[in-house]
Amino acid sequence: MSRYAPYFREMGLVRWRYSSPAPEGDRRVADGSAPTTGLQSQGVRTDLTRLSDEVARCERCDLHSVRKNAVFGAGEVSARWLFVGEAPGAEEDKLGLPFVGRAGSLLNGMLLSIGLSRDEVFIANVLKCRPPNNRDPFGHEVQQCSPYLHQQISLVHPEIIVAMGRFAAQALLETDQSLAQLRGRVHQYKINQLPLVVTYHPAYLLRSPLAKGKSWNDLRLACSVMN
Ligand code: URA
Repeated sequence: MSRYAPYFREMGLVRWRYSSPAPEGDRRVADGSAPTTGLQSQGVRTDLTRLSDEVARCERCDLHSVRKNAVFGAGEVSARWLFVGEAPGAEEDKLGLPFVGRAGSLLNGMLLSIGLSRDEVFIANVLKCRPPNNRDPFGHEVQQCSPYLHQQISLVHPEIIVAMGRFAAQALLETDQSLAQLRGRVHQYKINQLPLVVTYHPAYLLRSPLAKGKSWNDLRLACSVMN
């Protein structure tokens, strides 16, 4: 049995594989410009580290006073895929890492279902600090925090963005349309017109497993863009 089988089972999915990522040094950005080089990656790493330090000191909204750790994001600095969630939960706040709780396990399964592993994608959230009791983010918090996300996206410059859940989709696309209105088509993110696909948040999928099939369709749509 494949070692991925439990993830596919958890996702309620049949196996389907996205072609493996381009080798290092053969990676082109979405606009067809030159491949990313090792030196560029080093520069991006430095800039991301600087931004992460700024986020760790951030006091732009009241959430800073209740956080254990800011959760900057994690992953490959020259990732082709960038996934965006809503905000850290209790586990993420404790460890300072995104998607390490139950929703994170399901996200791992979603990634594996399209042939991706966590260390080849970049994962970030709209909010970098945990809202108390996992309440929904307030508008002013999204407004204060989303410039960090936009900078992360500019630096990583992925080939595709997957927005998971309403808050990520609405913040990235600067719209108040519902998730139902936003799913099922390819959007353009304002920076370099990167393709952006909207899907359900893994935490929602844990509560509503019947929606996993629709989320699978979203991931396949994203893969079709990458192919
Ligand atoms: N939910 C999110 O949106 N982000 C996390 O990092 C964890 C759970």
